[in-house]
Parts: sequence; C-alpha cells; structure tokens
Amino acid sequence: MINFNVPPFAPKAFDYMKQAVEAEKICGDGAFTKKVSQWIEEKTGTAKCLLTTSCTHATEMAALLIDTKPGDEIIMPSFTFVSTADAFVLRGGTPVFVDIRPDTMNIDETRIEDAITEHTKAIVPVHYAGIACEMDTIMDIAKRHGLKVIEDAAQGIMADYKGKPLGAMGDFGCFSFHETKNFSMGEGGALLIRDPEMIEKAEIYREKGTNRSQFFRGQVDKYRWMDFGSSYLPSELNAAYLWAQLEMAEEITNARLRIYEMYREGLAEPAEKGYLELPVIPEGIRGNGHMFFVKAEDLEVRTKLISYLKENGILSVFHYVPLHSAPAGQKYGRFHGEDKYTTKESDRLMRLPMYYGLKDDQVQYIIGKIREFFKA
Ligand SMILES: *Cc1c(COP(=O)(O)O)cnc(C)c1O
Repeated sequence: MINFNVPPFAPKAFDYMKQAVEAEKICGDGAFTKKVSQWIEEKTGTAKCLLTTSCTHATEMAALLIDTKPGDEIIMPSFTFVSTADAFVLRGGTPVFVDIRPDTMNIDETRIEDAITEHTKAIVPVHYAGIACEMDTIMDIAKRHGLKVIEDAAQGIMADYKGKPLGAMGDFGCFSFHETKNFSMGEGGALLIRDPEMIEKAEIYREKGTNRSQFFRGQVDKYRWMDFGSSYLPSELNAAYLWAQLEMAEEITNARLRIYEMYREGLAEPAEKGYLELPVIPEGIRGNGHMFFVKAEDLEVRTKLISYLKENGILSVFHYVPLHSAPAGQKYGRFHGEDKYTTKESDRLMRLPMYYGLKDDQVQYIIGKIREFFKA
C-alpha cells in the first residue's frame, strides 16, 4: 500500500528530544524553540518568528493582533482549510469569500477589490500547494484601501514569490508544522511578524497575556498580567523534533521537488490528450513540492480514478469542501460575486501521494496506474 502521506522524520530527532529532556527544559521557549525561530527569521527575513502550537493558533494570534471585532469583514478564498476562516470567526469577524483562479487554485486577485466594503479589515491570501498568490497585486490593493494582509502560508515554507519568501510579505504570515506538511512537529506552527512594533503585543498574547517573554530576557524584573491572551507556545520536545528536519530543509525540499517533477513528466501525455490537468506555476514563483494535484474531467471521473488507484494499493485524496457551501460557512460567512471556479474546480481536484521518503519506483508505479486508467 502506498500511503498518501508519511510524516517527515529526521534521524537526529530523538537525539535532540533527549537533549531537551536532559536540559530539564521541555516547556516552551527553550533552546530548540530559539533555534527554530531564528532559522525561520534568517530564511524569511521577517522581523520576528514566534513558534506556535499550530498554524490555526498562529492565525488566531494574527486575528487578535489586527484587533478583529464583530462585524469586521475578512476577504479570503472559499477553497481553503477551515482554520483560515475559524481564526476570524472566533473574534466575531465575517469571512467574505471570493472566487479562485483555476490555474493555481489561489484567490483570484482581480476579484478582491470588488468585495471590499467599509467593514473590510484584512485580506487573507492562502498559498495553496505552496504556490504563491499574486502578491504584488494583493499588497497594492491592501495598501490603497488601508487593509491588513495575513498570509496563510501553512503550505508555503521554503517557497517564494519573485524571490520573496512566502509568509514574510504580508503584515503577518502563518506556517504549519502539522504532520501533513513539509516539515513537522506533530502539531505546530509559526507566526511571522513583519512590523517590529507588533512583537511585544504578540508575545503577550502568546504567553497568557503576560510579559513573561520580556521577563526571561531580563527586560523587566517581574512578569505580570498585561492584557488578555492564551497559551500558544509549543513544548520543547516538539521544537526539537522539528529542528532535526529544518537542519535538512534543503534536502527534504529538493526530494519533494524531484517527486513533483517526476509526476509532471510522467503525466504529461495524459494531460496533453486532455484527460487530466496538471498544476500551473506562474512565472517568477518557486514552489516547495508541498503537493502534487491533478484535475480530472469532473467529479465522476475523479471518484473512479481515486477508487482505481485504491484498488491498486495507492491512496490519493481530495479536498476541500468549499467553505461557503459548508454549514458553518453559510452561518458565518458569505460569498461575494460569482462562484465560477471554486466549486467546479474543487470537485475535480485530487492529490497524489507526496512525502519525503516516497521512492522513485513508487512514483513510477503511481504514474503507470494513472496512465493505465485513462487507456482503459
Ligand atoms: C494545514 C493548514 C492549516 C492548519 O494548520 P494547523 O497547523 O493544522 O493548524 C491552515 N491553512 C491551510 C491552508 C493548511 O493547509
């Protein structure tokens, strides 16, 4: 059986976890959390990276930091994971969904401006599959309308847009280290903060509303309750597990990109014949091999192809049920404009096995089975 995903594991992980235990520091913000955050700051050039318990929580922190209030509207795609919307709904915000582009499955930047009202507070581009949204346009719209930009870069680490790392262009960027992502700590994430002025507030929200982070740096002589907050910092055990992978970040990313290219080459023929559509990477954008998806002709063909692969020991999956068509999406959000592509394209999309450690012959076997399916 070829799994759809196998969580990434780096050989040094246990060693580092042991070090964390031996240092008698397994709560948050120890040596490994520092290593990870500094690494992300250097890689992305962001002013500050705060490691969090999930990307969902990083997005929740961003929702707090932009002071989301009941009635505020947040523009985002409907083709995304629930967390993109949840974080704002928790603060009383209203997700305003706009259509996606069929090529990248990212928010259609040309639909954003029309959705802006006096209540709009922020735009949340989701870099689907680690392929960047059209950020120049999005940042320009945000600037002209005085809106915040929060990048859902859950899938976007190690990818860039015109040389700029994903997650570091908007006011805030959110990474995920869930076990389904390129790098994992089981459950975890990171908040990237562009404006140094926002760092102190973010640290307080992350540390239960206290200034403990300042206290640990020796900047204040006692720590106190400063504001509301929650607990968004992960354990050192998780950070240590992740650090082992980040040390091999290039190797892991290159291995994924190689699989991506193998799929692309192997499936070029059925794509040329019109059986399948392959992902499109616009110019100036560099992916990270997070995901390889194909689009079948329609829902029926997709269902058949997924079962055919399953019969042959290959697990492929589909997602997302567009948020605006889900019960909570109908209750809390609204779709602005026409749903020309969101529903239609999400019905056709399926993801092929992709993980660090997937072998060449397995990829070739998968390609072979897909070609066989279309020959029949
Ligand atoms: C995985 C994912 C999330 C959630 O990440 P968690 O770390 O599990 O909270 C949010 N948005 C997108 C687009 C994702 O792919």
